[in-house]
Amino acid sequence: MSEAFAAVEIIAAKRDRSELTDPQIDWIIDAYVRGKVADEQMSALLMAILLNGMNTREISRWTDAMINSGERMSWKSLGKPTVDKHSTGGVGDKITLPLAPLVAACGAAVPQLSGRGLGHTGGTLDKMEAISGWRAALSNEEMLQVLKDCGAVICAAGSGLAPADKKLYALRDVTATVQAIPLIASSIMSKKIAEGTGALVLDVKTGAGAFMSEPANANELAQTMVELGKRAGVKTRALVTAMDVPLGLTAGNALEVRESIEVLQGGGPADVVELTLILAREMLDAAEVRGKDPEVALRDGSALDHWRRMVKAQGGNPDAPLPKAKENSVITAEETGVISAMNALQVGIAAWRLGAGRERQGEKVQAGAGIEIHAKPGESIKAGVPLFTLHSDEPLRFERAKSALAGAVTYNKNTERLPLIVTRVD
Ligand code: URA
Repeated sequence: MSEAFAAVEIIAAKRDRSELTDPQIDWIIDAYVRGKVADEQMSALLMAILLNGMNTREISRWTDAMINSGERMSWKSLGKPTVDKHSTGGVGDKITLPLAPLVAACGAAVPQLSGRGLGHTGGTLDKMEAISGWRAALSNEEMLQVLKDCGAVICAAGSGLAPADKKLYALRDVTATVQAIPLIASSIMSKKIAEGTGALVLDVKTGAGAFMSEPANANELAQTMVELGKRAGVKTRALVTAMDVPLGLTAGNALEVRESIEVLQGGGPADVVELTLILAREMLDAAEVRGKDPEVALRDGSALDHWRRMVKAQGGNPDAPLPKAKENSVITAEETGVISAMNALQVGIAAWRLGAGRERQGEKVQAGAGIEIHAKPGESIKAGVPLFTLHSDEPLRFERAKSALAGAVTYNKNTERLPLIVTRVD
């Protein structure tokens, strides 16, 4: 069968800053999934998009073409409003773990299709897999059953959901084309729209530890995604939130599960609790659910109860001790005084090097690896007392993690910090 277009003409059009037409976009995505456009051709087009951008119509059509490459899920049979949260990824960002059961306890259904760690940022599925027996891969029928029984499900997106994104994402990863707003927005939103959620709250991270370190770029990404969601009939809003400093006091899989359970038990670090509550209220509002107040659901044990049911429904044992790394090593504070900054990117890279993340696709992560943070910016500390505890099964990893942390903490300086919520877009 002859093809409707030649890939080279579409690449040349974007190289020369022309707009791509709807039929060109539909064809290139479809032909790429069918194997009729070569990786080197798609790589050239992705780079042209990164350099020359796309307008709103092009981004929207590109997103639709990615959605149409696979199935669209529906939760209509639940008879309940559905709402999901998506974070663009950060260091110590375990918010999904307490948030999904919390929002379920307040009356909405939460289909939380999640991913694995990417580079220095942790992934929800890697964290949940630290729980003995817990299973990420569910069939669509199983997802629906867990949602019905527990009000929330955290699981892997099936292979049928936006397959064009899977192929494009792998290519972007190796061609330095991840960091393009049209490509990030269409990648995230194609999956979220295909997932069939009725409402969506986006947590767009900004600061050193985020994909979009500049708040202005994070804001543009947030605006683009909110527009794409609304156009598709999903009640979408976004918060741009701080990722200059790690969230909470842990970065690493089992360590973050432990901290999430502390939040569900009514404790946990103040920033994690605050962001969880803010996002829970946004989700309930977006889904138009006027149920229990999230703060009450953390206090009265109902959020914890939903967590336990959700973990058990996916084969996990919520009472099993969490894995611990075989070795640890303490780093002490270098100065006495107030900690003024802690670079999230450096902490994320150190946790990754300890084995909490993977260096190659498909590699196993260490469940117990990661970093405990004993004091955060704004707190006073004395030189020589523990500041970080590093955890790993392989002590040889400690030196590389320590070198990643060199200079990550500043003391006694007037450093500008981002507020937890930088902007809100709806
Ligand atoms: N997460 C995604 O799913 N896609 C991107 O492009 C970036 C982050």
